[in-house]
Amino acid sequence: MDALTTRPLNDMDFDEFSSFVRACGGQERQARRLFAALYRPGRDVAAGLLGKLDEVSPRVVDHVTAAPWGRLRVVDRRQASDGFVKYLFESPLGGRFEAVRIPLFDKKHVVCVSSQVGCALGCAFCATGRLGFSRNLETWEMVEQLRVVRDEARLPVRHAVFMGMGEPFLNYERVLRAASLFTRSGGLQISGRNLTISTAGIAPAIERFTREGHPFRLTFSLTSAIPEKRLELMPVERAYPLPVLVEAIRAFTRARGERAVIAYVVIRGVNTGPEDVEALRQLFEGIPIKLDLIDVCDASGRFQPPDAEELRRFRDLLQVLKVPIGRRYSGGAEIGASCGNLAATAQGGTALERDS
Ligand code: SF4
Repeated sequence: MDALTTRPLNDMDFDEFSSFVRACGGQERQARRLFAALYRPGRDVAAGLLGKLDEVSPRVVDHVTAAPWGRLRVVDRRQASDGFVKYLFESPLGGRFEAVRIPLFDKKHVVCVSSQVGCALGCAFCATGRLGFSRNLETWEMVEQLRVVRDEARLPVRHAVFMGMGEPFLNYERVLRAASLFTRSGGLQISGRNLTISTAGIAPAIERFTREGHPFRLTFSLTSAIPEKRLELMPVERAYPLPVLVEAIRAFTRARGERAVIAYVVIRGVNTGPEDVEALRQLFEGIPIKLDLIDVCDASGRFQPPDAEELRRFRDLLQVLKVPIGRRYSGGAEIGASCGNLAATAQGGTALERDS
């Protein structure tokens, strides 16, 4: 039977999939059952289930079976001693990109997903930025990162973060479609509140996201509240300067009634002084935030994380902000899986055949 679509089924959100099923002669109820079967763990198991569904006509099943499903090749899987696993994928559309599986208390996993091949934003401390930008990933390429990692994981995958390669808000529609598939019941089954999109500060996309009222979490990567310093570390400051970004963050916190999570990459001798804290205080005056400190992990060696004493002093100074301060562990350093280290390479750790 000829396929009625050339578009991969895993590129379609549920409404698009439902339209496809109706075009094949099926009904909405059948679309829901087929959708849930297609995203069951184990691609082959899922495919085998289709023919066994009651109430779905063989003709519709034939069309669904004949439709394309985008597949990625796993080039490499590598496990670090802290349990982080980095997947290196290759797509038939070209390019290599990575996802990271992060263990949470040996109970469940978070999967960090890439949204682009490379990145155009060129943050000074980031290996992905040094690659430059190649292309946006399609929705199905993001869906497959999560699905493949989930299918191989021993523990349940309960969280997903768009913090891999690329700036998700420069690939807005595809990322939001992927997010809807990650979180749709019957899809990849992650709660909307457990899905986080991290942006370096694409202000118009933040405003759009706020307007559209999505349930997902956002984090905003800041790294310095001093414009000249931020410009050097994060050149996106030129396009969306701090005052513009902060207004978008303010509107987000108002609409959501919650604190904005501000990610702050801490760098030895660069952004941990009293002037950095004073700039933060002024910038976020009257805006509810939570500050997440992340040690820089720069493979080039140009930037180093602060030592314990510098970090303690910085945290003491930050008390003036009177906001919650967290420290985000960025693991998997030996396999190049830490924040800012994804460069589509296989290195270090233990190579895995399949997950254990
Ligand atoms: Fe792009 Fe994020 Fe790296 Fe900046 S930190 S260059 S936004 S991938």
